[in-house]
Amino acid sequence: MAGFSRDAAWTGNGVPVPGHRDATGLAVPTPDDGSPAAVGVDTLDALRAHIGPQCMRCKLCALGRTQVVFGVGNPTADLMFVGEAPGADEDEQGIPFVGRAGQLLTKIIEAIELRREDVYIANVIKCRPPGNRNPEPDEVLTCEPFLFQQIDLVQPKVVVALGKFAVQTLLRTDTPITKLRGQVHPFRGAVLVPTFHPAYLLRSPDKKRETWEDMKLVRSLLRGEAR
Ligand code: URA
Repeated sequence: MAGFSRDAAWTGNGVPVPGHRDATGLAVPTPDDGSPAAVGVDTLDALRAHIGPQCMRCKLCALGRTQVVFGVGNPTADLMFVGEAPGADEDEQGIPFVGRAGQLLTKIIEAIELRREDVYIANVIKCRPPGNRNPEPDEVLTCEPFLFQQIDLVQPKVVVALGKFAVQTLLRTDTPITKLRGQVHPFRGAVLVPTFHPAYLLRSPDKKRETWEDMKLVRSLLRGEAR
């Protein structure tokens, strides 16, 4: 991650800080790499404030969303889950995965002896698409840098991509999830494990067996027992 460090000293040793002004009052150019440093944030709270509660960067702000659904959980989690987009319950409460799919996700997390508050949960896009339609390419393009910044700030060991949309966005591929799951993918200094989206599991409970295999793999990775 070019130019980004958790070390507070990095900002206090006279080195010009991207996004701020140098001693002469000139703005320090920001590295154009989409990193947290590029937008001048070094915590999740700062990133949330940077996005703002009523973000207007894409058309979803005018298509009926109530609020930005940023992310929730342990800011230094070893395990992070990434879903697609907020649904109606999430839009109302401002928290990802609180509806029926969210309740199933909580059970999935507990099945590997973790609590929901131990992990970090976010979505590819932060606002609800109307009628829960799929996110559109321009919406993803606008919003996905915030997800990558969240991942870089949390620095999880394992990222679980929930469903086709999350895994294809994160791995920048069109390969079907059925081909991608069952494998561990290198990802931003961590590893990524694809699995089925909990909303899909509600419709196709026979896929829960494969999800359990994926979660056992996640547990072994977290314990350092698998690579
Ligand atoms: N589905 C998602 O992908 N994300 C949520 O937050 C809720 C449902």
